[in-house]
Amino acid sequence: MNRTTTSKVLKSVADLKAAGLSDRADLDAVAEKYAVGITPAMVALMDPADPDDPIARQFLPSVEELQITPEERADPIGDLTHSPVDGIVHRYPDRVLLKAVHVCPVYCRFCFRREMVGPQGLGTLTAPQLDAAVDYIAQHPEIWEVILTGGDPLVLSPRRLRDLMERLAAIPHLRIVRFHTRVPVVEPERVDAELVRALLASGKTTYLAVHANHPRELTPAACAAFARMTAAGIALISQTVLLRGVNDTVETLAELMRGFVENRIRPYYLHHPDLAPGTAHFRLSIAEGQALVAALRGRISGLCQPVYVLDIPGGHGKAPIAAPTIEPADGGFSVRDWQGGTHRYPPDGTV
Ligand code: SF4
Repeated sequence: MNRTTTSKVLKSVADLKAAGLSDRADLDAVAEKYAVGITPAMVALMDPADPDDPIARQFLPSVEELQITPEERADPIGDLTHSPVDGIVHRYPDRVLLKAVHVCPVYCRFCFRREMVGPQGLGTLTAPQLDAAVDYIAQHPEIWEVILTGGDPLVLSPRRLRDLMERLAAIPHLRIVRFHTRVPVVEPERVDAELVRALLASGKTTYLAVHANHPRELTPAACAAFARMTAAGIALISQTVLLRGVNDTVETLAELMRGFVENRIRPYYLHHPDLAPGTAHFRLSIAEGQALVAALRGRISGLCQPVYVLDIPGGHGKAPIAAPTIEPADGGFSVRDWQGGTHRYPPDGTV
């Protein structure tokens, strides 16, 4: 495989051209609208000779992004309708999102927050805004869990992360701190001992959701980063976006989910792609997603099964959307097994 190498993050169409990743003149309009960012680790994974390369598809801008469909929206999951103070999204009673930054190490072309992240995005919370966000958590005893997302919280320096964690440590009703991040995959060298200590500095139970979409992303360097975190006591879970042309086969999903489990990452979310502007070329139908998830169930260990979810547009939260395997029938139930066979329950016909 002919791989391109670079030692810097590619941030512009000119950078892409210099790296030999694109010679298209019509991408400037895309890059003006949506940030570009590709780390050396992801450049090294791309195969420039493959026009359908699943890594390139996630990160290289495309003119298809300029096609906005009527159902797409700038805030597809309704963050802004549940934001009582800047940086906080309080959608469910017992947990909040804390979005301290809207910067990422890479800019995924399918991003659900693409209108909020990047240089033209919502930026980083100022010190008074961060104070107000932490105060909000402290003032709401029902908040059991804080989820640091963004943007990518792991772009913060270990010092800034540690400072924030130490402030969360002082909130007794807060028991769980969860990070959602692309960093261990796209910039694994950043996950050093100092960063790992900072992630744990709240003293709370710490979870970290690794965002990866294709088994090739689980490189030896990424796996070493996962191991540094699990060895320190961070519980790892996964999140994957189901994407046309990236991971829309049962073989690819099975390899990815097994790869997570082999690295002590519990598969968690398989997201149906959101209605973010200019992302129709990534979206499958829900029926296609359900068929893939059913095939996965029939194929690999229960440890490897993610929850297939849809974020309901408008801010109504997540709903599991796998096809049901049980339905009422003849006063009892009809249950589908892993091979697609159906069975009556209870078997003797009594309820
Ligand atoms: S890392 Fe997450 S928030 Fe950032 S561009 Fe990718 S999907 Fe969006």
